[in-house]
Amino acid sequence: ARPLHVIGGGLAGCEASWQLARAGLPVILHEMRPHRRSPAHHGDGLAELVCSNSLRSDDADHNAVGLLHEEMRRADSLILAAADACRVPAGGALAVDREAFSARVEAALADHPNVTLVREEVETLPPEEWGEAILATGPLTAPALASALAGVTGEDSLSFFDAIAPIVVRDSIDFSKAWFQSRYDKGEGSDYINCPLSREQYDAFIDGLLTGETVPFRDWEKDTPYFEGCLPIEVMAARGRGTLAFGPMKPVGLTNPNGPKPFAVVQLRQDNALGTLYNMVGFQTKLRHGEQTRLFRTIPGLENAEFARLGGLHRNTFVNGPRVLTPDLRLRALPRLRLAGQITGCEGYVESAAIGLLAGRFAAASAQGRELPPPPPTTAFGALLGHVTGGGDAASFQPMNVTFGLFPPPPERDENGRRVKGRERKALYAARARADLAPWLAL
Ligand code: FAD
Repeated sequence: ARPLHVIGGGLAGCEASWQLARAGLPVILHEMRPHRRSPAHHGDGLAELVCSNSLRSDDADHNAVGLLHEEMRRADSLILAAADACRVPAGGALAVDREAFSARVEAALADHPNVTLVREEVETLPPEEWGEAILATGPLTAPALASALAGVTGEDSLSFFDAIAPIVVRDSIDFSKAWFQSRYDKGEGSDYINCPLSREQYDAFIDGLLTGETVPFRDWEKDTPYFEGCLPIEVMAARGRGTLAFGPMKPVGLTNPNGPKPFAVVQLRQDNALGTLYNMVGFQTKLRHGEQTRLFRTIPGLENAEFARLGGLHRNTFVNGPRVLTPDLRLRALPRLRLAGQITGCEGYVESAAIGLLAGRFAAASAQGRELPPPPPTTAFGALLGHVTGGGDAASFQPMNVTFGLFPPPPERDENGRRVKGRERKALYAARARADLAPWLAL
């Protein structure tokens, strides 16, 4: 059989190669290191963890990433098997000895008779004679290939930086203070959630922004551009105390049904088709995560906010998935090429590997002439895939970790009419996912 080509020997590319190899298909895996290294990679091993050594929570019953671990184990993931084998103590988290982890992934692929590892940089889109290929070159894809990719997606659909505004789980917003309304009641009339601030609350909020600690740019990120229109809020506040009140926090065109006319507002816009998540409009920030949680919970209505994502600004190559990808991760403009890993618009080691696993399975199925639909949206695989291929809003698409906010919510009440909340509700998500994944895995 003609081999399938996988470009990039990171978390996603290794997992995709493994899934193809275990399905009995020959694979050629191209990795540019040691000839060229991204600014974040230090070594030459496959599946290098570039920063933390943690794959985050391993609690499959109450945490979406823990559930994703479990789903990957059930799908015979190489990345999860290597992580389990190289585990170091980290409480409820799955942390690994990074050297041993990388060596184990590399050995498993090198020892597999179906895998050929080629150490070379791929500088153009895969030539047609390669047939179906998977591109998994990550957040720091080498420049030549990145610009070739921009040629297919269009410049507007490939980003080199993210500009992430926090996302709030709708259920955690206090609607005795917040209300639905569009400015001047345009659009559907109630597209936005608004949180009111008095003059005193606004002043205290600006003080918090000006004194809040931010995450510094890394040396190689120093050329990160600030685009007017998506400046970090702390940078806007530093330009003048009133800048935000005349910018994203302006109160014009809104009436507060719950109290006096506000001095400023924070607006939140629906972020996913399910309507479970809302992003804080214009609130991209480089404040440290702890500071963000503390400060944003001083906003009336958000006192108990649960954040599905916190803000950030990094160098990060990723496509606008909802616009350019099919549900099985093919590029619409070049269907013989699938994308995998962080470049699809997911975020995190585990998520990148999971999207690699799915790309590998989709490619294996199509090489074998089998139909493989996307995993159900109620599973962690399906919820994450849904974010990068269509669930998110294309206009404001930004990368995201897996979270229960991406899943369709289960019923709020049990059969006795009792409201199911907190950990118990998370366990409901997990139980439903567990049951729904089994038939998909058998396909
Ligand atoms: P990568 O793991 O980066 O793999 C891509 C591979 O492709 C690399 O081996 C690269 O050398 C190769 N490559 C690139 N271009 C070419 C080419 N043209 N030809 C051949 N090979 C090529 N996530 C977390 O969960 N926790 C963290 O602590 C964390 N920290 C991060 C820190 C930084 C600085 C960055 C940039 C990201 C971080 N991430 C973190 C996010 C992300 O999950 C990781 O970057 C993850 O490794 C992405 O997996 P991937 O397989 O998509 O890409």
